[in-house]
Amino acid sequence: MNGKVYLIGAGPGDVELLTLKAVRALSQADVALVDELVNPEVRDFLRPDARVIDVGKRGGCKSTPQSFIERQMVQFARQGLKVARVKGGDPFVFGRGGEEVETLMAAGIEVEVINGITAGIGAPAALGIPVTHRDFSRGVTLVTGHTRNGDAPNWDALVRSGTTLVIYMGISNLAQIVAGLRAAGLAESAPVAVIQNGTLANQRSLVTRLADLVGAVNRAGLGSPAIVVVGEVVRLATVSTDIEAVRQVA
Ligand code: SAH
Repeated sequence: MNGKVYLIGAGPGDVELLTLKAVRALSQADVALVDELVNPEVRDFLRPDARVIDVGKRGGCKSTPQSFIERQMVQFARQGLKVARVKGGDPFVFGRGGEEVETLMAAGIEVEVINGITAGIGAPAALGIPVTHRDFSRGVTLVTGHTRNGDAPNWDALVRSGTTLVIYMGISNLAQIVAGLRAAGLAESAPVAVIQNGTLANQRSLVTRLADLVGAVNRAGLGSPAIVVVGEVVRLATVSTDIEAVRQVA
């Protein structure tokens, strides 16, 4: 008899942002495969006898190969176990959840996807930044600043869209991202927020302008994991940020 895999989004960090569904699935799991960005407090919701396997995955560091993780999930489920596959944010937003569902379906294994709050919405909200606001932004685009083959996003189209841009995995490529936005015609005065470890106790953030973004991030020493938010909605930040003289965008 086959088990089942729960593909669980653990949210951006703060453990109170877990869904009730996630908590229920965690409490039923026999084994949990947990990504590195997941708050360790999530483990408190597992059974004491559940087996926990860390499958750290962070850009640049040694990480468990995706194919190995997928094989393990299949193997455990075939043993009849309930498997919690726990990912940061939402499993279907830059989380490889789609790939994992494909593999599990192909193997004939039941899978339930449990959404989480994605960092690109949760981290800005921690500063009081709404990613849409009908006075300022007609939409929001979630985009990665780091692609598998190194291709740059189509900054022209993104800037022209007039939507709030929420950039994941953007810190290591920040200078190129700024160059791309500038070449696409984004104003030097465009407000930008950077939030590292959003919703966690060690959250750090700054609000600045496109012109000062790289310098501000370097001076503040902000690093991954961080979300970069570009757009007029950044002016709505209510939380005074921890680092820079942030109101220069006003
Ligand atoms: N599935 C995740 C995203 C995984 S990609 C989600 O939906 O949120 C990893 C990237 O997410 C990081 O490089 C960073 O850009 C962002 N990220 C994840 N957690 C974050 C946090 N607490 N604060 C800021 N950015 C975060």
